[in-house]
Amino acid sequence: MIIKGVIFDFGFTLFYFDNPSVERYYECFKKGLLKSIEILKENQVWNENLTNEAFIKTFSKKREQFFRKSIKTKMEFPTSLIFQNVLESLKEEEIINNLNNLTESAYNELAELYHSCEEDEWEPFENTKETLEELFIKGVKIALISNHPNHKTIKNMLKKHHLLKYFDVVITSAKYGKRKPDPDIFHYALRKMGLEDQPNTVIVCGDEYADIIGAQRANLPSILFERKYKFPFEREIDASNLRKIRNISEILDLIE
Ligand SMILES: [Mg+2]
Repeated sequence: MIIKGVIFDFGFTLFYFDNPSVERYYECFKKGLLKSIEILKENQVWNENLTNEAFIKTFSKKREQFFRKSIKTKMEFPTSLIFQNVLESLKEEEIINNLNNLTESAYNELAELYHSCEEDEWEPFENTKETLEELFIKGVKIALISNHPNHKTIKNMLKKHHLLKYFDVVITSAKYGKRKPDPDIFHYALRKMGLEDQPNTVIVCGDEYADIIGAQRANLPSILFERKYKFPFEREIDASNLRKIRNISEILDLIE
């Protein structure tokens, strides 16, 4: 099979989160959210007389609403937008007095802090770097598509582990606006890789429904990375006809 490009997923395809559980995710996000609240205090937006719990309650409610909406519409609502929405509604309810002219970059900073704990938790698999390096040497174009609500977080993690240099393009749903399995995000990746007229030479590699079904909708071949952990509420894929790998380096066996 002639492969000129690979589109990778991020979570549980190139990187893993040790012992993942809903509790660990919540713990991680709570740590990040407390850092964001500290910044709001420094900017005198969140007043010392108000409890952290009051902010956390409104934030969690909004986040849940946006999450449901994103599942339904396949659109992404970036974390920075959720912060803006939370703060505007707290102002409307007169819980806070003013937003002290918070700028777009301030909302981005709040989002980055909120996700900062993830940057400590996600680690590349043992073979991720050498696999990317090998593909890169062979001249294969490499793209990443991640359903993540904060673009900078994904970039930071690739940079931290010296992997960014291998990618021709890094796409997140936060920046693109739509989530996998919407085929448009895959078509966008193909254009960025310069391979839009040779889609049969580009393979999608991911661990979940959104990757495999998205690839099928975009008419791209795919390969399922079989993850060790099961996620709660996961959508099942009919994997009987799929090519599967259990180690990321196995993708090299497909490349001539
Ligand atoms: Mg994944």
